[in-house]
Amino acid sequence: MSGEKNRDYYSILEVNQQAGQDEIKKAYRKKALQYHPDRNPDNPQAEEKFKEATEAYSVLSDPEKRAVYDQYGFEGLQRQGGGASYSDFSSVFNDFGDIFGSFFGDAFGFGQTRRSRSRKGDDLWVEVSLTLEEAAQGVEREISLHRKESCDLCGGSGVEKGHSKERCPSCGGSGEMRTSQGFFTFSRTCPHCSGQGEINRHPCRGCQGKGYAYKDKSLKVKIPPGVDEGMKVRLEREGEPGTGGAPRGDLYVGIKVKAHKRFQRQESDLFLEMEISPSQAALGTRIGVPTLLGDPVDLSVPAGTQGGALFKIKGQGMPHLRRDGRGLLLVKVKVKTPSDLTEEEKNLYQKLAELRGEAVGNSDKDGLFSKVKSIFN
Ligand SMILES: [Zn+2]
Ligand SMILES: [Zn+2]
Repeated sequence: MSGEKNRDYYSILEVNQQAGQDEIKKAYRKKALQYHPDRNPDNPQAEEKFKEATEAYSVLSDPEKRAVYDQYGFEGLQRQGGGASYSDFSSVFNDFGDIFGSFFGDAFGFGQTRRSRSRKGDDLWVEVSLTLEEAAQGVEREISLHRKESCDLCGGSGVEKGHSKERCPSCGGSGEMRTSQGFFTFSRTCPHCSGQGEINRHPCRGCQGKGYAYKDKSLKVKIPPGVDEGMKVRLEREGEPGTGGAPRGDLYVGIKVKAHKRFQRQESDLFLEMEISPSQAALGTRIGVPTLLGDPVDLSVPAGTQGGALFKIKGQGMPHLRRDGRGLLLVKVKVKTPSDLTEEEKNLYQKLAELRGEAVGNSDKDGLFSKVKSIFN
């Protein structure tokens, strides 16, 4: 705590003495948002500023106190009976609803003590590995979890049969301890009951009072058609149990998709390479293109197709995840040069080359290779 407190309320809120209530409210909102402890964890300076601003607001927002303060200063307020007390603050904090709207919710926690009592359970994460076919069709998977389950002996209460929890004598059941210091009332979690407000003097032997035990649990997960690597499916309320009646956390199922030996995937499109011969490329052909899930489909390759040409087949890609239909099947045509020609085939190629005036053959009988070499020497 700093020794000398700033009690120049107008300068704290950065308003002038003529400021109206709206302006004061607005100025306070700005300061409180800036210095709120939830936004400045472990920052004593910010906490001090927050308290200063709150004190300034509690005085300046009250016309009677403001009048006294304007005339006699802080000493005047003190003479009037200690300035602000906790009950004055509750009225300030009751104002928070309209000052902050839902911005902080009840995060201020003043006057209310629900903070540490109930908390949603932690989320859990598991991974499933799918083949590309499974990702395309959707699949139901059984997954096993090792998670906290309610104790069978006590039904989750953590208390031995025939007993019940007792109200904490230290905090009277509120779960927190209050101390007053000048203007402020501080609250901290009750150390005797850890904020629970109750004490368990007869902990269940099955769970040592925890109310849960780790158990193996299996769950069926429906994975929709069209999922992709890195996506996750959320199962609500299948995570770890919450405390104090709060719901379980969620379970996230992370998706892995194994590489396919034939198809590559790009979002909802599939990609495939098909080989054709130079004659097929030149004259055109029809080829049967395999699909991921069904029978092969016919693809008509026109005469004069170049190596690397890409053909699109509609409706044979992966299913779209959020709408009907499927992506494309993209077929890249690769022209495969034969390397196993028979004598007869060689002669035909030779003939073809002659007809087109193309130089063929790479034996060096014409001394062509040595000529080429000599250029570079
Ligand atoms: Zn207590
Ligand atoms: Zn138990």
